[in-house]
Amino acid sequence: LPLIAQQSVQEVLSAASLHDVVASYISLKRAGSGFKALCPFHAEKTPSFNVNPSRQVFKCFGCGVGGDVIHFVKEMEKTDFAGAVALLAERYNIRLRYTGGSSDAEDPVELYRIHETAQAFFRRALEQGRGGDAARRYLKERGVTHETAERFGLGYAPAEWDGLLKRLRAAGFSDGAIRRCGLVVTKEDSDHRYDRFRDRLIFPIRNTRGKVVAFGGRLLPEGQESGGKYINSPETPIFRKSRHLYGQDLLERGVESIVVVEGYFDVILPWQHGLRGFVAPMGTAFGPDHARLVRRWSRRCTLVFDADAAGQAASERGLDLLLETDLDLSVAALPEGPKDPADVIVGRGPEALRQVIASAPEMFDFLMERSIGRRDLSRTAEKAAAAGELLERIGRLEDPVRRDLLVQKLAARLKMDPGALRAGLKRSTPAARPARPEAPPPPSPLRKDACYLVRHLLDQPEAIPRARERLADGLGLPEADRLIRVMAALWGETGRLDATTLRARLAGPEELALLTDAQMMPDPAIDLDPQLESLAAQIQRRRLRERKEDLRRRMRQASGPERERIALELARLAAPERAS
Ligand SMILES: [Zn+2]
Repeated sequence: LPLIAQQSVQEVLSAASLHDVVASYISLKRAGSGFKALCPFHAEKTPSFNVNPSRQVFKCFGCGVGGDVIHFVKEMEKTDFAGAVALLAERYNIRLRYTGGSSDAEDPVELYRIHETAQAFFRRALEQGRGGDAARRYLKERGVTHETAERFGLGYAPAEWDGLLKRLRAAGFSDGAIRRCGLVVTKEDSDHRYDRFRDRLIFPIRNTRGKVVAFGGRLLPEGQESGGKYINSPETPIFRKSRHLYGQDLLERGVESIVVVEGYFDVILPWQHGLRGFVAPMGTAFGPDHARLVRRWSRRCTLVFDADAAGQAASERGLDLLLETDLDLSVAALPEGPKDPADVIVGRGPEALRQVIASAPEMFDFLMERSIGRRDLSRTAEKAAAAGELLERIGRLEDPVRRDLLVQKLAARLKMDPGALRAGLKRSTPAARPARPEAPPPPSPLRKDACYLVRHLLDQPEAIPRARERLADGLGLPEADRLIRVMAALWGETGRLDATTLRARLAGPEELALLTDAQMMPDPAIDLDPQLESLAAQIQRRRLRERKEDLRRRMRQASGPERERIALELARLAAPERAS
């Protein structure tokens, strides 16, 4: 498997701004020389997530997660190192190089360029192509203006087998890249290739930064093509169904609520009528990954279903998964009649759709009414069944305050005593509910000293050889010894010691954590030399004390010659202490 070249990783690290990247996910507040936020990796009420922009590191003092910008993206996007580097490379327009096998197609930038070329091809076919008139007529029928079509970049895939394929080859894209972009299909057991989208209206799917990552295609009413009414690009290195939403490129921060609909036109027509914040998942249900994505723009989110689908959705596990996220979710069911939001807009006007969304009940209320609505509450068994079903849902929530508020709501609705429901809740709460992350234990004095020393050496690497000499036996903390050894090697080889290169060379999580903690420390005093001496002396004293304690413990359990040997060693250790 090709690996991203170290040089490319460096390029990404020097181009990326940790502050900007973090701020694109969560809102940061200035605190001293850095920034603070509520941690995106654990639930908390007071911010313990810190960003140090000058050192390009972050650390959460609540759950202990910390590192550089690559680590942040890796955790945030639930991807691996290479995936995080690729996302950053794309954001900063850096072309990645690979080692251990050349592969242009692994390079996301190449895939973006293919999609740009394809996008221009489809646009041109809609505007000027011979077959484009049927697509233009269809758009007009749906009430989409020319301006809107342009804004969304709508296009047309001609009714040919290889129109796009020829265009991509003419533009010089490699065979590998064309194979991986998903826009061309290779027939099984042969080299024969043809365009995936033929004689279809084309919807470009863009990522948050506005780059086309995939396409959706709709059959035309007058068209000759067969196959699904809608088809999408398959998943590629730059397109994941669970992570992309149609319309996400048009979202703006501060939008009142994110509205999740089902089809392309349900995003396009509301936009044309001034309604903002509409997005649609593609070929999959709106899930927890999508929830994490939209949280960047708004905590409030409304799922819109048509009357039939709403009932079905209520019984699905999907909504439960969403209930567990920290989004403020509502569910809007369209009135009987119109099939989708686009129909509501065309038939009843944008105000009608706005009303449906504004009056959408909270998701729990929606689930509660669905569960209660199909039962006869005058019958004890049915009432108990409804209570049990809803308590089971409440029991999955992590936030105790939220759990209790919902219990009270349910009690009021069922005219029951909240205390009785609370008792039922305790029993239904699964034991396997993930626990809150434990706050990391306070660092030992030795680790604090090690942290302090590393912090010093990062700023004054010329002191590394002397520090190692002074602490020839090591610090007595394996990760610190390993970290300082790597620092010494890097400084010796290159005469430079920048933290990002250093980070890339470290293997263990303990070393990385120590480095992060050291970088998060306040600026050290200017004068290292006397401090280095006293610090080294302090570390040695601590080591010695720990060693002696260990020996005394062993002596108490030992006997015979073993005991004598330990006693001798203790005496030897005590000597220099007396001398000092
Ligand atoms: Zn945290």
